[in-house]
Amino acid sequence: MTSIGTLGNTGNDTLRDVLTRLEKEGSGLGHFNVSDQVLLKAVIAAAAETKLPVLIGASEGEREFFGTRQLAALVKSQREESDLPIFLNADHTHSLAKAVDAAKAGFDAVTIDFSALPFDQNVARTKEAVQAIKTINPGILAEGEIGDIGSGSEIKDTVQGGNLSTPEEAHQFVEATGVDNLAPAVGNMHGMLKSMVQGKAKKHLDLERIAQIKKAAGVFLTLHGGSGTDDEHFRKAIVAGINIIHINTELRVAWRESLDKSLARDSNEVVPYKILRPVVDSVKQVVSSRLRLFHGQSVSSEAVGSVA
Ligand SMILES: [Zn+2]
Repeated sequence: MTSIGTLGNTGNDTLRDVLTRLEKEGSGLGHFNVSDQVLLKAVIAAAAETKLPVLIGASEGEREFFGTRQLAALVKSQREESDLPIFLNADHTHSLAKAVDAAKAGFDAVTIDFSALPFDQNVARTKEAVQAIKTINPGILAEGEIGDIGSGSEIKDTVQGGNLSTPEEAHQFVEATGVDNLAPAVGNMHGMLKSMVQGKAKKHLDLERIAQIKKAAGVFLTLHGGSGTDDEHFRKAIVAGINIIHINTELRVAWRESLDKSLARDSNEVVPYKILRPVVDSVKQVVSSRLRLFHGQSVSSEAVGSVA
C-alpha cells in the first residue's frame, strides 16, 4: 500500500522529510483538524495561500463523519492536482483496528493514543499498533501519547489534565514502543476555556520541560491542544523541540461564529455554497495566521484575535 505522501506532485518529500527540513529551519508543522469538506477546503486554501506545508488531521469521530477512505481520497486527489505539500494524520486513534484502517486508507501518519491507560499498558498497546501500521506502510509515521491533557476540542469551563510528562518516561516510552514522534503533556490542553475564546487568557507551556523531553526522547515532538496558546510560547516551544502543533478548537470556533453570521445575513438564502463560502474564508484566515507564526513569519494577531 502506497501512502498519500508518496503519490502527490510534491517532489519526493515524505512527511518525515518535511519535518526534518522544518526542524533545521526552526519551524513547526501546523496540524489542523477537519470534520467536513468546508474545513478541508479552508486548510487547503491556507496551504495554497501561504505556500507552506500542512498536516491535515482527523480524529476517530471526525473520520467517522467524513469517511476514512473518502477523506484520504480527497486529500490524495488534491495532492495530485497541486504542488502543495499536504499530509494526512489519523488523529487520536484508540484501537488497533482503527489504526490499521487509517494505514490501509493511505494516511501518512497515525496518532496512536492509549494515554488513558496505565503506562505499561500504554507502552504495550502502542508498540503493537506501531508494528501493525509499519507492516502495512514502512514509511508511515507513528505517534504515541503520554500524560494527560484532557479530551475533546471544545469550549470548557475548567482546566483539564495536569499530569505532566517527565523526560524519563518519555525516553522509556520511545525506546519501548518505536514511535517516530511523541506527544507529551507540557502545559498544553485539549479545548479552550471561555476566557481563551474571548482572548482574555492564553495557555502557557512548560518550555524547560519541552527541551528536557526533546533531549531524552530524541524523536519528533507533537504539541496537542495548541488552540489558545500564547504566540510567544508557540515560537519558543518550536525552538525547544516541538515539531508538530495541533490546532482544532480555534478552527471550530471560527467555523461556528462565521456560520452563525452567514446564516443570519439573509434568512431567505438557501444556496449552501453561498452560505458556506465565507465560512471557508474565516477558517482559512485562522489557519494561514497560525502557519505563518509556526514558520517564524511576523503575523498580526488579528486573524486569530477575531476568533479569540
Ligand atoms: Zn490532540
